[in-house]
Amino acid sequence: MRLHVVEHPLVAHKLTMLRDATTDSPTFRRLADELVTLLAYEATRSVRVEPLEVVTPVAPATGVKLAQPKPLVVPILRAGLGMLDGMTRLIPTAEVGFLGMIRDETTLQASTYATRLPEDLSGRQVYVLDPMLATGGTLSAAVRFFLDRGAADVTAICLLAAPEGVAAVTQVFGEDAPLTIVVAGMDQKLNDVGYIVPGLGDAGDRLYGVV
Ligand code: URA
Repeated sequence: MRLHVVEHPLVAHKLTMLRDATTDSPTFRRLADELVTLLAYEATRSVRVEPLEVVTPVAPATGVKLAQPKPLVVPILRAGLGMLDGMTRLIPTAEVGFLGMIRDETTLQASTYATRLPEDLSGRQVYVLDPMLATGGTLSAAVRFFLDRGAADVTAICLLAAPEGVAAVTQVFGEDAPLTIVVAGMDQKLNDVGYIVPGLGDAGDRLYGVV
């Protein structure tokens, strides 16, 4: 397992604006979208490619194209949806699956309420989108789901993580798991109701309002 905290002034700037409680939902959505595109650039560093010969107006050239099977992008509903456009802007040919998971706010346990994913993920590279890596329960359940269906590797793209969540995921899957976590910021801790501190609040509510 690999943890990559993206250090870049534009990432830090957008993350700070997202944290600000006075940032309204339309601005939050736009910033999250822009931030994900920056994270996606880092997260796709190991995306598989295969050689491609093209002819330029001047001469033949050897390049690459994305390999088959196509990468699979999976936003975790609901908050991960706010990260989808930012990701597919960078890999428009990726396939998109959906995983609906909800966290019980009392027990903090994650449960699955919707899936729209290929049964067989053999050899697939999966990019899972979940803004907040808090207790690690949701991400662990999602990663387990993908690996059980045969995924070759999983990259989680998150806006923020808590050390407790990263430790929990590491404990579940071990250091050697084919799992990379790419995150814009690593925060201090979780509070006693499982929110990231200082965090940015409830990512779903900040994106879409309180429902
Ligand atoms: N989910 C959120 O939306 N925010 C947190 O701080 C933790 C989990």
